Amino acid sequence: MPAYNDAEAIHAFLPEVLSFAGTLRDAQRACEIIIVDDGSRDALSDVVTALMPTRADNTHIRLIHLSRNFGKEPALSAGLMHARGELVAMLDADGQHPITVLEQMLTMVQQTDVDMVAAIQANRPSESQLAKTLKRSFYLFIQDSQRYEIRPNAGDFRVMNRKVVDALCALPERQRFMKGLYAWVGFNTVYLPFTAPSRGTGESKFNYGSLFELALVGITSFSQKPLRLISRIGFVVSALSFLYGLYIVFETLLFGNDVAGWATVAAGIMFSTGIQLVCIGVIGEYVGRLYEEVKQRPMYLVDKTVDSDDYPATSTT
Ligand code: UDP
Ligand code: MG
Repeated sequence: MPAYNDAEAIHAFLPEVLSFAGTLRDAQRACEIIIVDDGSRDALSDVVTALMPTRADNTHIRLIHLSRNFGKEPALSAGLMHARGELVAMLDADGQHPITVLEQMLTMVQQTDVDMVAAIQANRPSESQLAKTLKRSFYLFIQDSQRYEIRPNAGDFRVMNRKVVDALCALPERQRFMKGLYAWVGFNTVYLPFTAPSRGTGESKFNYGSLFELALVGITSFSQKPLRLISRIGFVVSALSFLYGLYIVFETLLFGNDVAGWATVAAGIMFSTGIQLVCIGVIGEYVGRLYEEVKQRPMYLVDKTVDSDDYPATSTT
């Protein structure tokens, strides 16, 4: 569970997760809950440590403190990289990913030969029409390969087996757009629609700005459409300019008109400058991503790790 400034929400949700984990546990199976504190500035860690089960409870919680806020994608990666289980489930800390759905997903992975079950958020009643349209266009735009499908609205609420987790952890890229990476690694995936309840407490950490930033990471890491688009725009503008040049030559030869006025020239210059700036911007976006990758900085840094096993069986907390 990635968690950022969600102390109140996790206070309500973690006991639910713990009691579900209790039902999963038997003689052969142990269950571990990994919470990645993505640099929270509220009392999240204290809330989690207060809820830590004792060693006698047999369910293990590991709290991983990142050294600052890195964002949800690095926090998810940190969780995956620390997970040791044969099956790994990812869910939000705010309670928007219901345990009942998680139970269905686990059953599907255990009883069939699927490698990954992804929950699809069927409808978000609180989402504005604008956000819906933007998201739909994003998913249409990002789908650039016939070989794998980045399914719209299939988010980070997933259950996957070791094969998938190992494949995801082995991907070296630092700019992670997880929704694309799940699709890219492939494996036998099924989708399960669900309706997320609205957030009990706190508010979403994602606004239009941060979603746009995430969309840019997604597009630059999964699609070369923008690059192809700008070269096509280049061709079209060149062809149009050539035709216009021909028109001016013939107009002058046939009708003896003089060179067109400065308005035409000024409009032409501004038009081509605008297009060039847009094209440079698109290339710049890709160069920026390259720059981020070649620096090879780690995806996240762990400050400290707290295990529930550190709490003795007699502890009352
Ligand atoms: N989150 C995180 N780091 C961030 C932002 C969010 O770990 O920088 C966590 C957050 O605590 C929550 C999950 O990611 O558990 C989803 O965030 P949120 O509920 O704000 O997003 P939404 O449900 O609106 O997509
Ligand atoms: Mg949420």
